[in-house]
Amino acid sequence: MDKTWQDMSQIQPQVMTMLQNSITKNRVAHAYLFEGEKGTGKQEISNAFAKSLLCEAPTAGYEPCELCRNCKRISSGNHPDVHLIERDGLSIKKEQIKGLQEEFSKKSVEADRKVYMIADADKMSVGAANSLLKFLEEPLADTVAILMTEQLQRILPTILSRCQVISFKPLSPENVKRKLIEQELEPQLASVIAHITQNVEAGIELSHDEWFVQAQKIVVKLYEVLKLNSLKALLYLQEDWFTHFKEREQVDRGLDLLLLIYKDLLYIQLDKKDFVVFQNKLKEFETHALHLSPRRLAEHMGCILEAKRKLMSNTNPQLLMEQLVLNLQEGS
Ligand SMILES: [Zn+2]
Repeated sequence: MDKTWQDMSQIQPQVMTMLQNSITKNRVAHAYLFEGEKGTGKQEISNAFAKSLLCEAPTAGYEPCELCRNCKRISSGNHPDVHLIERDGLSIKKEQIKGLQEEFSKKSVEADRKVYMIADADKMSVGAANSLLKFLEEPLADTVAILMTEQLQRILPTILSRCQVISFKPLSPENVKRKLIEQELEPQLASVIAHITQNVEAGIELSHDEWFVQAQKIVVKLYEVLKLNSLKALLYLQEDWFTHFKEREQVDRGLDLLLLIYKDLLYIQLDKKDFVVFQNKLKEFETHALHLSPRRLAEHMGCILEAKRKLMSNTNPQLLMEQLVLNLQEGS
């Protein structure tokens, strides 16, 4: 099922407003360059935009109806005036761009407008890029190009200067979470992962990573033991933590997870319980947040951030964790 204009407005509100304006104010550019990380909706929005350009009965003048022949054919990828070029192997070849040009030099098959999209535009061969450049220099009246890239710095300046560049922001945690749940991740895990990565694919990978799934449980447990007493916490470090968090990057990830717990306490203190990541621990965290002054909480968070910094400057991870556990105990 294709994403609607509305769906995409939730994910990339600024981009959608910009595109909407270009249509309603009759300022559609000849060429756009959509740039942003993987999973930020570039392809979905290209499709939605192509539909809004060709739709027979757009709502409010820009929003595709999703029901007309044009919308339906774009959704199924077989509209004769809408072309998507994807790389053939490692690169986009000159012949692919040539083929497109031939296709476009004919009179439009049906619609007044033609749209072509080039995914991974940074992967164009030199020949392909030069061919495209000629095409961009002499744009046909009703042709709209949508180039997409995750690597803006790899786009030739000559191409860049002929495109209107639209930047796609990384997804917000709520959007990542929603997408992960759509992929049938359990909501609690989706919530944690959405705060660790802004990339849905990386998130799905993490959910299959046994180490990570286990890691978040160990971090919660460490936090709970910390609340009991420091001796037990130090023991827990020895018995469970260090056997799981061996590499420096692993410890770093562990600290990120621990920080999420303290942020949860902060959200509770600020009465923003909807933002709490570990919703399954809400009751417990509420009691803790009640007994912790905002100043102490800020200090605790500072200690974790400090530990992250020290970790990167080569402090022994074991000493660092022991020190952290003692610091987090103080006055709590
Ligand atoms: Zn339509």
